[in-house]
This record gives sequence, structure tokens and C-alpha cells, in this order.
Amino acid sequence: MGHHDVSETLDGSLTMKGVRDRVDQLRDDPDSDWSHVASGVKFETHQSFSSYNEAWEYLARKVESYEPAIAVEYKEADREALNTPKYLKLTERIKKAKFELDQLNIKLKNQLLAGKSPFIKCRSCNSKLARAHVKDTDCKVCHEDMLSPTSLARIAKGQAKLDGLVQERTELAKELNQKKGKTKWLVMGSFHS
Ligand SMILES: [Zn+2]
Repeated sequence: MGHHDVSETLDGSLTMKGVRDRVDQLRDDPDSDWSHVASGVKFETHQSFSSYNEAWEYLARKVESYEPAIAVEYKEADREALNTPKYLKLTERIKKAKFELDQLNIKLKNQLLAGKSPFIKCRSCNSKLARAHVKDTDCKVCHEDMLSPTSLARIAKGQAKLDGLVQERTELAKELNQKKGKTKWLVMGSFHS
């Protein structure tokens, strides 16, 4: 029940007529979700997206039930074109930052759980929790994290580093897609059931 989106990636060498014909074929299959989408394809070629995800996010905001499907162009580089030394190095750094963050989380959690007193006191709500029953750093009473502000700051710093690297790689992928990518069509329709 509700709105559903259905999408299809098509070769960029197809003409608009070719795209329309292909979508008509999909719509003719009674078992396909496309059979519920209103007929016709609207083309929005005033902009080209630099990744599949960008095109997808744009279309997901645009398509409406009972309206024709919308087609946009986007660029996509194959795996090999993305694997430049810079890209691979960033991927390595992301892996390392993620590993370090995981290790930090484990270490700080174990420190919190391993104290000697039979209770752990939550800084947020002052509840005293039986240490034997505490399995995670979330307070069972107020659901705040019971780690110290210093620990939380260290985790936030690690997370920010990881997010920054991921962002950097996303930007680089966009740049490489734009430079080396092949043009493709992404068509999306929406229907109500
Ligand atoms: Zn609490």
C-alpha cells in the first residue's frame, strides 16, 4: 500500500524515442511494476548528473503516481576508471579510519563495562544500573549514552574524520564520472497501490 517507485537504467546511446519504446515494452509486461505506471516518458535533459545516485535522488523527489515516468541523463564510469591511485589511496584511508573508530568504540565500551563497583551511574539521569546487566553504553532508563564527555568527543572526532574521507571520495568519484564516464539514461516512474 502506498507509493512505489520503479526505475530502469538504459544505455546512453538510445535516442529519446528508443527510451520511450523500451519503457513501453516494460509497461506491456503485466507482471512488471512498470505496468502500473502512467503512460509516456517526460525527458529532463537540461542537466546531466554526475552519478547514478544523484540522478536517482533527483528522480525520487520528482516522480508522481498517475504521471508519466521521467528520464534524465547521468554519467557513470566503470570500476576501472574509478580506480585511480588517488581513489584507491582514499579507499585505504577510509578502511583504516573505520577500523580505528570500531576499535575505539570497543575499547571505550569495555572500559565502561569493566569497572569494579557493582553499579554504573548514568550521568544524564543519575540512574544506578546493575553493572552485571549492562551490555551496552546506552542507559536503559533515559537512553542517553553513558560514556564520558571525553570519550564521546573522541568518538565524534573519529566519526568526523571518517565522514570527511568518505565525502572526499564521493567528490572524487563524481569528478571521475564526469571526466571518464559514459552517458546513461535513468528512467523512473511511480505508482500507487
Ligand atoms: Zn540515564
